[in-house]
Amino acid sequence: MGSCRLCPLRCGADRKLQAGACGAGADILLVKYGLHPYEEPCLSCQNGSGTVFFGGCALRCVFCQNYALSRAKTGKRVSARQLADVFRELEERGAENINLVTAAHFVPQLLEAFRLYRPKIPVVYNTHAYETQAALRALDPYIDVWLPDLKFCSPKLSARYTGREDYFAVAYPAVAFMARRRPDIRDGKMYAGCIVRHLILPLCTDDSLRVIDSFAALRSEAYFSLMAQYTPCGEAVRYPELTRPITAREYRRVRGYLEQSGIERAFIQERTAASEAFIPDFSERGPLF
Ligand code: SF4
Repeated sequence: MGSCRLCPLRCGADRKLQAGACGAGADILLVKYGLHPYEEPCLSCQNGSGTVFFGGCALRCVFCQNYALSRAKTGKRVSARQLADVFRELEERGAENINLVTAAHFVPQLLEAFRLYRPKIPVVYNTHAYETQAALRALDPYIDVWLPDLKFCSPKLSARYTGREDYFAVAYPAVAFMARRRPDIRDGKMYAGCIVRHLILPLCTDDSLRVIDSFAALRSEAYFSLMAQYTPCGEAVRYPELTRPITAREYRRVRGYLEQSGIERAFIQERTAASEAFIPDFSERGPLF
C-alpha cells in the first residue's frame, strides 16, 4: 500500500495517504452486495449469484455500466474482517456463489478476507482482465470461476474508451491464464471454470469479430459469453457513437459470426437485455434489483 504497483497502471500511490489512480485507498470500498438474478444461468441458478460490488477501478471505461462505482463516488470503507462477514452472510442467504466484481485493486485485502473466512460455495472473480499475472497467481488458489471480460483487441479503441492503449496486450495473457481453469458444471451450475465476456459496442463490430477470433485461438475449454446489453452510461454522452444501444444489424453480425466460429461453449444474450432495468440499483437502501 505504501507505493502501490498492484495493477498494470503501477501508479505508485501511497494508498495509506491518498487514493491511487483507481480511486482506492488502503481500505476496501464496499458499495453493495446481494443476490444477482441476471448473471449467466450457470452462475445465477435458482437463488442468485452472491454479488459483491467494490468501488474504484483501474480501467476507466467511459461507458462504464457501473459508473458511480468505478469512479469511487459511492461505497463504505470496510475491513477484511467485515468483507469476510459479507461472504458468510451471502452464503447463509443461499447465494449460489460469491461473485467479486472488479476487485483487482483490493487483492491483498481479498487474500486477507479469504484467510479469515473461506466460503464453502464457489468463488467467482469478475474482472475487466486488465490484471497483472502476479495478482492472478496470488488469487488462483482461492478462485473457482474466472469471469473476465475481453473488451477490445484494437489499441486505438481501447485508448479512446479507456485511456489504455495496452489493454489487449495486458488482458489477453490474463484471459489466457484464466481460461486454463477446467470447467466443472453439474446440474446446470458452474462449480469451476472460466467464462470470457464480451460486450458489443455501437460501431465496434469489426473489433468484436477480432475478439471472437482471439478467444477461439486460445483453444481452451472456457465459455464465451456474448453480451448485448450496452446502455449509454457514464461519459458516453461525450462520444456521439456511444449514445445509442447497438442496432439489430450490429447484433446479428456479431452473433452470426460467433455461431459460425466453431465455438461450442457459448452464452448469447438477447438484444432485449439492453435496458436500464438490468443495471443494479446502487443506492444505499433497497435491493439490487
Ligand atoms: S491498484 Fe490503484 S493504486 Fe495500485 S497501482 Fe493500480 S491504480 Fe495505482
